[in-house]
Amino acid sequence: DEVLERTECVSAHEVLKRFFGYETFRAGQQRLIDAVLAGCDVLGVMPTGAGKSICYQVPALMLQGMTIVVSPLVSLMADQVRSLMSVGARPAYLNSSLSPSQQATVMCRAQQGSYQIMYVAPERLSDPRFVDFARRAAGAGGIGLPLVAIDEAHCVSQWGQDFRPAYLGIADFIDALDRRPIVAAFTATATERVREDITNMLGLRSPQTAVTGFDRANLSFSIEELGERAKTAWIRDYALAHSRESGIIYCSTRKAVDALAEELERALSPDGIRVGRYHAGMGARERQVSQRAFIDDAMPVIVATNAFGMGIDKPNVRYVIHNNVPESIEAYYQEAGRAGRDGDPASAHLLWNGNDFRLRRFLIDRDPEDERSSPEQREHAKMNRFRLLNQMEGYCQTTGCLREYILRYFGDEHSASKPSAIEGASESTGCGNCSNCLSTFEVEDVTETAREILEFVSRNPARFGKTLIADALHGARNERVRSSRLDADKGCGALSAEPLRLIKTVIDQLSGRGYLAVSQGHYPVIGLGPRSEEALSAVGAASADFSFTMKRRASRRA
Ligand code: ADP
Ligand code: ZN
Repeated sequence: DEVLERTECVSAHEVLKRFFGYETFRAGQQRLIDAVLAGCDVLGVMPTGAGKSICYQVPALMLQGMTIVVSPLVSLMADQVRSLMSVGARPAYLNSSLSPSQQATVMCRAQQGSYQIMYVAPERLSDPRFVDFARRAAGAGGIGLPLVAIDEAHCVSQWGQDFRPAYLGIADFIDALDRRPIVAAFTATATERVREDITNMLGLRSPQTAVTGFDRANLSFSIEELGERAKTAWIRDYALAHSRESGIIYCSTRKAVDALAEELERALSPDGIRVGRYHAGMGARERQVSQRAFIDDAMPVIVATNAFGMGIDKPNVRYVIHNNVPESIEAYYQEAGRAGRDGDPASAHLLWNGNDFRLRRFLIDRDPEDERSSPEQREHAKMNRFRLLNQMEGYCQTTGCLREYILRYFGDEHSASKPSAIEGASESTGCGNCSNCLSTFEVEDVTETAREILEFVSRNPARFGKTLIADALHGARNERVRSSRLDADKGCGALSAEPLRLIKTVIDQLSGRGYLAVSQGHYPVIGLGPRSEEALSAVGAASADFSFTMKRRASRRA
């Protein structure tokens, strides 16, 4: 109990040193802790392993009273408590793994002010006895509840995969207290929508937000647009050239895993390289054997669906190759991030083509979703998934720095401080360690093509998809063009001299830079984007000073 009295007058930095043995705070930690100590709500967005727990543990050891930590991970509470105890702090946890009499003991000691920090599962906050305890603790003459920290805060969002209904009760719990504690929320999920949900559903008040730690400097990134057969050849060559290294190759379906694994086995077995596979269609035992052999380096290469990797901590994975595009940047980064955990150089390669996106769109569209949800909710969820997929498509098509694209997606402040990498905006310096930074691009003037496309879309806004628009402009008089009556549009055939592929690429680039916008219905349609006003006059003709250039990859430095 000496500790409490002393910690009142020491600095956060001293607490970090004394209890945790660290010399300095990591990026973001200091700012979040300072905010909490100044009485502000906070939202910390950091990937797993970046050090979120320090952000509430340090204040918990400094503030008068008991901090409540809400966590869905019951299995980790005991570990946290044990390690805090071992450094001389006074922690406790209250969850269903304790017997009723043990729970009573913990509550009783909490009432006496014995703990600085208490871990609870979210369900606990709706237990009337606990609410009663908390109200007295937070009230006049109580032990004080200075801080409620919410771990895995994205569980409050119904748009995420990990939605936990009990998280919706956190705001009510806080509202029931006479003196409102500081509320600190933490998550590794960074999508804007989920962040908004966290702020709204938890009732955070102008939270100080820190998004940090997403950069993985030792990882290099590459994108390759390849046809299906070329993908297989690329992967085979890569695995052969890196035969002493461990790698994971992700495919989107079980069938693709089996096919690619077979192909690689044939190619690599003469060199003595074994190839494993892993997907949910295999038996539990078979999967376990695969996983073990991969972790022990007996089988250096594994072909897998996204079922592989959860909870696997293999430090020396040197490369991750995606044979198909994942559904979101978030999923991609999580899977790619399994390379190079040891901090040594490692690489992440994404192979893609238009079919990948067509298949993904088809799957999202067909997905029955949760049957309990209303049709509106389902539609909403679907649109959200389309949006995430569009951002994935943007990654495949950008000519800017890939690392900056990812960091900007997450909102990581380290990327924000660098010059913008948005095409058309000021030139970025880039990371120098991704395929775009290592490529040279030719700049091509495609003003006339862009002009025709923009005028065409302004006559037919948000009605047609990319393929149909390109077909019409190119002058294809196929069934779809005719049945859409686009053969009567004055733009039909206006770009017959241009390759169809170029027209499509310019449409992509116009969307990427905000002149066009892709909206998602049952299939994506193209409308005018926010910047179209800069390019078009009131009557929909391209203005005279509009010009448009496009970067095309010319070569790549080794
Ligand atoms: P998260 O909750 O974000 O997944 P943790 O809080 O478990 O991450 O921290 C991950 C690891 O980083 C832990 O081993 C922790 O002790 C360590 N760590 C956290 N902050 C620092 C720091 N400022 N300096 C050094 N190590 C730190
Ligand atoms: Zn780069």
